[in-house]
Order: sequence, then C-alpha cells, then structure tokens
Amino acid sequence: MSNQKPKPHLSLHERMRVLSEGTRYDSCNQTAVCHAFGPDGRCIQLYKTLLTNSCAGECAYCPNRSTRKTLRASLTPKEIAKITWSFYRKNSVEGLFLSSGIIGDAEKTSLQQLEVAQLLRGSGFTGYIHIRVMPGTPKYLLEQIADHANKFGVNTETTSALNYSEICPNFDYNNDVLTRLQWTRDLIKKKRSETKYTGQIIGANDTQFVVGAVLEPDRDIIRTVHGFMDKYALRRPYFMSFDPVPDTPLENNTPSPKWREHRLYQASFLLKDYGCKASDFDDIFNEDGFLTNDDPKMRLACVHSDYFPVDVNCAGREELLLVPGIGPISANRIMQMRPIASEQELMRMGVVMSRARPFIELNGNRQTNISSFMESAL
Ligand code: SF4
Repeated sequence: MSNQKPKPHLSLHERMRVLSEGTRYDSCNQTAVCHAFGPDGRCIQLYKTLLTNSCAGECAYCPNRSTRKTLRASLTPKEIAKITWSFYRKNSVEGLFLSSGIIGDAEKTSLQQLEVAQLLRGSGFTGYIHIRVMPGTPKYLLEQIADHANKFGVNTETTSALNYSEICPNFDYNNDVLTRLQWTRDLIKKKRSETKYTGQIIGANDTQFVVGAVLEPDRDIIRTVHGFMDKYALRRPYFMSFDPVPDTPLENNTPSPKWREHRLYQASFLLKDYGCKASDFDDIFNEDGFLTNDDPKMRLACVHSDYFPVDVNCAGREELLLVPGIGPISANRIMQMRPIASEQELMRMGVVMSRARPFIELNGNRQTNISSFMESAL
C-alpha cells in the first residue's frame, strides 16, 4: 500500500492543482496545460492531469512513488470529463492529456483512463485526447483506448532492461514497455488506415525518456531513439531532465542540466526530419559519449566542413538539409523556387542566413569562410 496521507477535504481546485503538478515526469511542464502537435505542426493546447498521484509503483525518481510522504489526490473519470468539457467550451484547451499513478495495477488504471475517454466521446466531445498508458496495459484495453484517443503511448524512461530495473523496479522493460510500443505501432497503423478519409488526427507513436536518472550517455539514448524510429515507428521522443526529488532513493543525485534535454531534442529532430543516422553523431560526442552544449547540426557541419559549400541552385534536398539554417520546409521551398538569385529570397523562404551563409554558395559566390565562422560560432 502506498504511504499516503489523503486529506479528506481537498476541494476540486486543490485536487486539480496537485494532479497537474503530479504530471512532472509526463512529457510536459508543471502547469495544467500542456501541448501536443498535430500532423501539420500546429500546436494543440491540452488540459493535463493525472487520475491520481497515489501510485502502487516505486520508480526511484518519481514524486508519486508509493512510499513517499506527499499530499495525495484523485479525480474521478466523471470529474475529469466534466473539467475537460468546461475548459473546452471556454476555448481554453483543445483537448486532454491524461496520465495516472498506478491504481492497483495497470489494468485497473487503464480501465479508468478508458472510462474518461468513453465519457467524453459518448457526450459528443470531438477534441484531442492523448492518453499516457501504463506499462503493462493489457492489449484488449489498448485496443479500446485506440478507438477513443487521438494519441496513446507508454513511457520508455531509459535505454535498456538493466537500467529500467534500476529505476522502475515494478515493471519489465521488454514485456511491459517494448511489447506495448509494438502494439501501439500496430494499432496506430490500423487506425490510420481506417480513418483515412475522416480527417481525424491520429498521433504517431511517442514515448518519453528521463534524462540523467541513470548513468547512460547520450550515445545510448540517440541509438535507442533511432532504433525505436525504425522498429516502432516512433516519431516523437520526449526528454525530461532528471531533477532529484526529496524523499526518493535518488534525492542526492546530481540534476541533469536542462541544456542536455534541449540538445537531445535537437538531435532527435535531425534523426526524424533530416535523414541523420545515430552513427553520424559519433563524430561530435565527447569521449564519454555525451553531446556538448552546442547545436548538434552546427557541430556536424563544422566537423564535416569538406561537404561544403553547397550550391543552393543545384544541390539535392539531402545536401540542403545538411546546411545549418535550412530546415525541411525551407529546403522544399528552395527546390520548388529555384533558381534563387539572392539572400533576400532565401530569407523569405525561411533560411536563417546568419547560420547558413558560411555553408552555401549562391550564383558562384561564397561570402563567409567556414574556418573564420567556426571560431565565432563554437
Ligand atoms: S508508475 Fe512510476 S513513474 Fe508512474 S507515477 Fe508510479 S512511481 Fe511514478
């Protein structure tokens, strides 16, 4: 049983506050609103809550672990559905992000998560529903959740079964996490083919890593993310910096710097949208396998200065994407609008010239030397 001190008379607002703060290790920030991204890149605001912060689990980094003394609170599925509707009607949010502590076991918890989604959909709710399912959620429940949610997925937390057993002792990495990632991949694929013509948003497979809770280098995280992209059609890894919580086994560990999380996000975008492979990063890790606090794309470009300059009027899309300051959208625009005559045109297409200038050639002209640029950029 969890070591909780339920306060019998918490108001609805107090419970809402406690439960929004309790999502600390669930993809978002600690306010009641978090963000998802639609397939068109549009940001969607979601009401973010846990069903409960009472948890049967004992994850070593987590403020909600069962044996920790903390204020506990819960909302019923009906209350969550009602609050979501109320925010939605006021246009304060476009949907719900729902996670939870483990209520007894994964099955009981997921049943309540499903109930929230069923209550919302049953009352005509067409907003976005993102459910963070529990490790070990049974397949039959995952299938029903898939029928109601736009997005659903399980947190991976770390890169190996051994690491996972250190920080999440109640679950099994291979069975409770990786098998669920595989089922989620298959359900998303099926749902996308069924809803091809309805226009409903079906989010891609996503998962989250707690960065710095165990001593794994960025090399392992980037390799795992890349492997998951191939194997589980992962599109969106989330990274959450470890920050020690008092009264947990990791309370005396060093917090992970925020910039590490940021650099891992940048690296994951390079894997997802720029055609980079995990092994490409081997050239820019430090000797312990960590990224430094520099933009990884700029680091890669500087390490491979022999790839440049790229002639924007002849280069293929892959070559354009190597250039710092050129992203997938601006690369597409360049390909469509060529020939390009001036920097102003490139800027109108979204190219960040201050970053791109040393790496491109435009109509035979190259305006900045890479070595002098490297001295000031890195
Ligand atoms: S399952 Fe683990 S991470 Fe999730 S709330 Fe419980 S203790 Fe925290």
